[in-house]
Amino acid sequence: MAATDPEIQEITAALRARQRFVISSHSRPDGDSIGSQLAMAFGLRALGKQVTVVNLDPAAPQFMAFPGVRDIHIAPSVEGDFDAAIIMECSDYARTGVAGLDRYFTINIDHHPGNSRYGQINWFDPSAAACAEMVFDVVEALGVPLSLEVATHVYIAILTDTGSFHFSNLSPRTFDICRQLLEAGIDPVRIARQVYDSASLGRLKLCGAIMTGMDVDDSQQIATLYVDRAMARAAGATYDDTEGVINQPLTVKELQAVVFFKQTEGDEYRVSMRSKGEVDVGVVAKEFGGGGHKNAAGCTVRGNIDELRRVFVARVARAINGRPDRH
Ligand code: 5GP
Ligand code: MN
Repeated sequence: MAATDPEIQEITAALRARQRFVISSHSRPDGDSIGSQLAMAFGLRALGKQVTVVNLDPAAPQFMAFPGVRDIHIAPSVEGDFDAAIIMECSDYARTGVAGLDRYFTINIDHHPGNSRYGQINWFDPSAAACAEMVFDVVEALGVPLSLEVATHVYIAILTDTGSFHFSNLSPRTFDICRQLLEAGIDPVRIARQVYDSASLGRLKLCGAIMTGMDVDDSQQIATLYVDRAMARAAGATYDDTEGVINQPLTVKELQAVVFFKQTEGDEYRVSMRSKGEVDVGVVAKEFGGGGHKNAAGCTVRGNIDELRRVFVARVARAINGRPDRH
């Protein structure tokens, strides 16, 4: 039973002994960040605890309708009297982009490989399909009833972090948790509609422009995508609207991996990668100073975009073929 794991016991004891919490996650929070943070926040509030959720960046628009999302504080730093910081989904403090968190007793909960164990308590389970699976265990161990709010946020996190139940990190535990979330009353159809089917026309147009610019390598296994601000403006969209676009090429049978370059400024690009099955793009991201999982990873790089496309295709080809590249 998960509740007997020493890390969970250590965490629940630390949570019970404290009253005021600040919860943070990584910049540009994804569904797992928001879901993990708010599941934890609602769980702790049910115990009468005081909880503030702080992120550097706002949640993407499709998450705004869910409980508590609009109440998340958006700030580059935290101060105030907190008894502990709970940081989720972050391999180190810097991933939060929020200054001042390291002044507090830190509980670090994460499922990414390569966590730097920066907290006073560190629980790190790379086998979890979403960080929110770990939060689910904590809330359960706290003896808090599984409220609709907690259940909804755990489900949002699992749904999005598994790429709608596509990625290889799924386990029997994932489905067992989802079963309990449904029993707690969540509406998976409504949640999926809200997360995936509430886009703007601008988003669809931008998606079209990005797909038109897609490059596929000679092996027909690797797609590269590109977006810049001018493309977004022309479509009447923003970069927020590119969320999830990266998954589209993987609907093509032959394509095994996608690399998506998003121009930030000048020659700097945010790189997102997705892959199928055993193709490990996490290793590729790590080589470029980033990180992530086997099937979903990212990094930030500088350079000429054509050259970057070549470099990443060559590196991902090596990940697919499992042998040195000869370009
Ligand atoms: P995304 O492509 O959605 O930005 O990121 C996919 C996955 O890779 C996420 O789990 C995210 O945490 C991780 N990731 C993305 N960018 C970085 C980065 O720059 N550094 C690290 N360590 N992980 C990243
Ligand atoms: Mn995650």
